[in-house]
Amino acid sequence: MMIATARSMLWLLATDTSRLRKCLVGARAGRTRRALPGAAAATGVRIIAQCIIPCGVRAIVEATCRGHVRNFARRFFAMTAAAVREPVFWRAGLRIEPIAPAEIGVYRSYLQRSESASTEVPLKTSTGKLGRRTAVRRAHALLQLVDRANAAEIGHDETSSYARRYTMDHDPPADDRAAFARLCAAIFANGIGFNAVRNHREALDAAFDLFDPTRVARYDDARIDAILRQPIICDRAKVAACVENARRWLACAADEGTYLGRVARCAAQDDAAVGWPALVELLRSDFVRVAEMTARQVLKRWGFFTALSHPGGKRCLERLGLMAPQAPAPAAQQFIGAIAGAGGRDPYALEASFVLFSTIGPCRTRPLCLRCPLAERCPAAQLEAAPPRPAASSTAAKSA
Ligand code: SF4
Repeated sequence: MMIATARSMLWLLATDTSRLRKCLVGARAGRTRRALPGAAAATGVRIIAQCIIPCGVRAIVEATCRGHVRNFARRFFAMTAAAVREPVFWRAGLRIEPIAPAEIGVYRSYLQRSESASTEVPLKTSTGKLGRRTAVRRAHALLQLVDRANAAEIGHDETSSYARRYTMDHDPPADDRAAFARLCAAIFANGIGFNAVRNHREALDAAFDLFDPTRVARYDDARIDAILRQPIICDRAKVAACVENARRWLACAADEGTYLGRVARCAAQDDAAVGWPALVELLRSDFVRVAEMTARQVLKRWGFFTALSHPGGKRCLERLGLMAPQAPAPAAQQFIGAIAGAGGRDPYALEASFVLFSTIGPCRTRPLCLRCPLAERCPAAQLEAAPPRPAASSTAAKSA
């Protein structure tokens, strides 16, 4: 075990690609990995452990202060830019957290889990015959047909704007205020759907002071009555829950500086491959009116992609023979991530294609296979579309 010297400290550095694009794969991942020791040597930082995942880099480093870790990250970005042919765009925010020496084991295993979760796709095809690469390649080909079918249904512009909206709704929140707004949106959406909440977003922002938790926590009964008099949200229990949650948010954030800091600390010890169970429990215990499904909806909207899979998107993957029926939701999300990585696309944008296909396209709850452009390649369609053989005609054929 590494023991930090008196002057140096251990730090966790986590940096993500812009919009969490899964572009650190193959040769690019190798070059990114090789840039780390050079950057460390140039800035006097020592790397204790590291892992490259498709959408970012995690490292445990030893350095004298946070500024040195930041310099190391900047030098690493510069060296990566020089080493790879196609530029990697990084998110502006860095996560740099001190690690107590006693916790180094926990952080090491977090890095190992992150790496194995990003390289293993627990995919099971319905036939069991396809390898991971073949399945991803096949899914990629089908995805092009899905995109074409969506465009034929509602047009290219509407398809792209839907994907943009879907991605923006799930972009990791920039700060606590944005994160709290999404928590409240998930509570409001309970029973009425997210579309209804999105349609009233401006009115809700105005009514709730842009969901600043400090201000919402001070709301009294008179203020709640005033909100309920507006034609936006008429459920007193939901509004009261948001006020109570704002108070709890501030109480939890007081210990960690920000609530997102508390989330990051919990995520460091959680497991993406099984759908972030510890984070789900954290939200359930921290807030009121947050059951497991709401917690997962919130986490997905905070950028935790494997927390929840869209039932329609998952249904499409299963019908197309890309996923085993009843495969766990995190496996579906990891598979979508793998297809996105193979095509250099944003996983949320890619998921949006399948979601659209399952809601306005032919692959609805009751599929319209006869007008589906994927029918020839879809195992589920072959069963659905097979015409029943009339007994009379077969008898006639035999007698002929
Ligand atoms: S053929 Fe039918 S089951 Fe298959 S993807 Fe199309 S609509 Fe869905």
